[in-house]
Amino acid sequence: SNMLYLRVRIGDIGDDLYAIFINDMSEQRRFEAVRRDFVTNVSHELKTPAGAISLLAETVTDAADDPDAVRYFSGRISKESARLTELVRRLIDLQKAQSSEGSVIDVKRISALAVARAAINDNQVQADARYIDIRLNVNGKPVPISAGEGDDEPSETELMIMADADAMQTAVKNLVENAIHYSPEHTTVAVGVGERDGKVTIRVVDQGIGIPEKSLDRVFERFYRVDPARSRETGGSGLGLAITKHCVQENGGRISVWSRKGEGSTFTIELPAAPADEEPTAVQGA
Ligand code: ADP
Repeated sequence: SNMLYLRVRIGDIGDDLYAIFINDMSEQRRFEAVRRDFVTNVSHELKTPAGAISLLAETVTDAADDPDAVRYFSGRISKESARLTELVRRLIDLQKAQSSEGSVIDVKRISALAVARAAINDNQVQADARYIDIRLNVNGKPVPISAGEGDDEPSETELMIMADADAMQTAVKNLVENAIHYSPEHTTVAVGVGERDGKVTIRVVDQGIGIPEKSLDRVFERFYRVDPARSRETGGSGLGLAITKHCVQENGGRISVWSRKGEGSTFTIELPAAPADEEPTAVQGA
């Protein structure tokens, strides 16, 4: 269809064609290069655990009469399979986030507070396992994490946004997951929802290892990790923040990060506030 377009243009613009053609090709080439990198990265990321699994399976066969060794290698096999499964899950998330440009996302009037609560609930087990205390606040004021029955909170504290509930929940869930993942035990993760100048913000603040300044603008890239060894060891895919950024952007929002190495990180999602006149729509899993 590119060629057809160019041929039609020949008659129209004569000499200008050359410039347009060059421009069009370099666009195309850039796209190809990005796609090639992505495929290379994906292949590499899938090959590593897959290779490990087949090596470990051979080892466990060789060690069949040593129960301790069998237990050890089986454990490592399940860990590597879990990584593989997680990676595939993330790739599907990313694919969904990228292919839903405009058409598939289901934009409704939803509560940013409910999104935050759902994202916390999704991570509560992992937080407890690491003695990390997750706190929730609205405009700086602490609120309970579970919405509770007969909830009589006034609707203005719900902070309504126009967005796809699934996409936003994925976005915030990934931020909370990272906050837990990159923090030492016995620290606090604070999730804050607030409103200012017609924008609703969802902020995730941790007291973790932080991100070095030179990596700050790269953490949203697919497969980028500050410390590949650590991230891989702990099951990271390098896709979480790329997915988060996509989810936020397709809902008309922005995401930013502040961090200092050793002091912690703050990720802030900013979305336009929904107009105030309609009925709220529930977020599932909240
Ligand atoms: P991963 O699966 O490796 O966590 P992400 O895309 O979620 O991938 O994050 C990319 C990288 O950004 C991580 O590998 C990590 O180095 C860094 N990072 C993300 N969130 C945090 C955080 N809260 N604290 C410190 N580093 C973080």
